[in-house]
Amino acid sequence: MKLSDSVKYVKGVGPKMAERLEHLGIRTVEDLISFYPRRYQDWTQITKMEDLVSGEESVIYGRILDVKEIHPRRGLSILNVTMTDGTGAVTLTYFNQPWKKDEFSRGLNVLAYGRAEYGYGKIQMGNAETEAVTPEELPSFQKLVPIYPLTEGIKINRMRQMIQEALDRVEDLDENLPLETVRKEHLMERAEAIRVMHNPENETMRQAARKRMAFEELFFMQAGLLLLKRKREKGASSVKCAPSGKLVRAVLKNFPFELTDGQKLAFRDIEDDMEGLVPMQRLVQGDVGSGKTAVAALALAKIVENGYQGALMVPTEVLAGQHYETFQQFYKGLPIRVAYLSGQTKTSERNEILEKLAKGEIDVLIGTHALIEKDVIFAHLGLVIMDEQHRFGVKQRKALESKGESPHILVMTATPIPRTMALSVYGDLDVSAIRGMPPGRHPVKTYAIDGSYLKRVFNFMRKEMQAGHQIYVVCPLVEKSEKQDLASAVAVYEELRDKVFPDFKVGLVHGRMKGAEKDQVMNDFKDGKIKLLAATSVIEVGINVPNATIMFVYGADRFGLSQLHQLRGRVGRGSSQSYCILYTDNRNEVTQLRMRLMCEISDGFLLSEKDLLLRGSGEFFGYHQHGMPDLKAADIIRDLPLLEEARREAAKAVDKGMDFTEELRHRFGGAFFKKMEEAEKE
Ligand code: ADP
Ligand code: MG
Repeated sequence: MKLSDSVKYVKGVGPKMAERLEHLGIRTVEDLISFYPRRYQDWTQITKMEDLVSGEESVIYGRILDVKEIHPRRGLSILNVTMTDGTGAVTLTYFNQPWKKDEFSRGLNVLAYGRAEYGYGKIQMGNAETEAVTPEELPSFQKLVPIYPLTEGIKINRMRQMIQEALDRVEDLDENLPLETVRKEHLMERAEAIRVMHNPENETMRQAARKRMAFEELFFMQAGLLLLKRKREKGASSVKCAPSGKLVRAVLKNFPFELTDGQKLAFRDIEDDMEGLVPMQRLVQGDVGSGKTAVAALALAKIVENGYQGALMVPTEVLAGQHYETFQQFYKGLPIRVAYLSGQTKTSERNEILEKLAKGEIDVLIGTHALIEKDVIFAHLGLVIMDEQHRFGVKQRKALESKGESPHILVMTATPIPRTMALSVYGDLDVSAIRGMPPGRHPVKTYAIDGSYLKRVFNFMRKEMQAGHQIYVVCPLVEKSEKQDLASAVAVYEELRDKVFPDFKVGLVHGRMKGAEKDQVMNDFKDGKIKLLAATSVIEVGINVPNATIMFVYGADRFGLSQLHQLRGRVGRGSSQSYCILYTDNRNEVTQLRMRLMCEISDGFLLSEKDLLLRGSGEFFGYHQHGMPDLKAADIIRDLPLLEEARREAAKAVDKGMDFTEELRHRFGGAFFKKMEEAEKE
């Protein structure tokens, strides 16, 4: 039997069972044998009945004294099986499972696993799993017993049977890792590891097997990403820049501040890349407010200094407009021609920009998705930067990149990506982190409140506004929805404007407003004309209004930790103490924990790691959207050390030119090879 065979080839699996297995994502023999147990029952330790602890799962072994079925009322049957091991007695109970009766008879020796409960003066075990086992057979049953996630129509024993059947018959479980790696990492052999995953004799064996299977997954994931990276590097020769000169230095002088050490280090990485033979593929991650824009401005100046154009793409109009303004300051008096293109740009103006761009009369183009439209043509694009990169898909990144001939690529994100993620999803990019913040920042004080504090908080907000500061109030929805009872920006806006703060100018901005309208409001807020801005999360990314000191979030439970951190990053940008107030009446335990984490942790890296742990590894940062392979044994959050080992070993193997085509096709699927082909074309 081969791994790729349908499960229908497994003995006893008919069309019906095949269908049920499909519900669990199991189609092939390989799917079946890599359907690893969710946990194991420890049958290695038999507990004497006199030592049983109420509430604990235990294994007991004894002889059946009595089997009795009772019918206390219509439609209810209770089966009581009493057994003893000489130290005490236990009654196994089964409700409404009359067929069970046939499994037991007086005098039979039974091994039982279940939760012991003291009650009515005796020890009971409800719904215990049992095996009829003679004393001679006993040792072979003392092991870790696998527990699988199940679906309707598949019982646990049936699942174990099918997997065992498949394991007994499958042939091609040959070693797929380089032997050198297996030896160096002391890995269990593949065929053995898969079997042990389902049938571990003890905990040590189980751990060794899991390590092996996890290593394998991480190894091939990294091999794939590294191959992709190498391919890009080989195919493309870059716009090789000269060491930074006058123009870059002039921009540095124009900044109204000194670069932080973190910014300096990040820019040095970028300089190294841009001066090299291989096009830059770098991710700069820096917490909200760490000053990524300045780093982008330097990189763009550097490409212009070398006679090429640069593009900066951002996810929202508001942010694009703001960057455009910032860059005009940064480049003031310097020969760098900056233009701004968005979906709102008037046709005549747009035509003019496109014409100049194609002639090379614009050096730096800043804009939204509008940059990737077909008719946007650069004369010689040498550097592509994407800000808030997590808002873009791989496709959009590619579309912008394809406007130049293997341009340097810099992606920036404020969503701190834990190292595990950086190495997996972004494994084909190099990573720089901007550590540390510009000087003089106070950490934002964060509080979680419920409705009982609302009045006090409103008073506090009034005081802040009287002191000349400004406030953001963010809501999860634009308008009231019938289905959800959530704060909507429109309703909150009206309430605050008319009832709570009639004496202050209150504004409203949300995603459904027209661009021009939105810009007007944002500008009024920036200029201090609007004191309090009610908004949806459109203001989440990038907005910079240093005078704002309070971020008030309605329905805070509706936002993820990273998103809340981003929102919080909108304040604390000036020299005054700032506050983030998270309002939710949701008493749910996880919600409360998340609120507590927000209050206690101000470091975005740490927060995002906690976020990962809370959300589980499947869903973070669109792992699957990035076309990454399924992980069954590995846990991408907890297996960081293993991931780093695997990456090192994979790099060695890739450098030796080992061919993993089949494994990679299998694991990543077709999408990966399409990426490879694209890389080849570049
Ligand atoms: P982000 O990394 O979130 O994009 P920004 O680039 O918007 O951060 O910078 C946030 C604020 O910090 C801006 O007002 C910017 O002018 C300021 N800033 C950036 N770098 C420095 C620095 N080295 N020293 C002082 N202020 C800085
Ligand atoms: Mg930014």
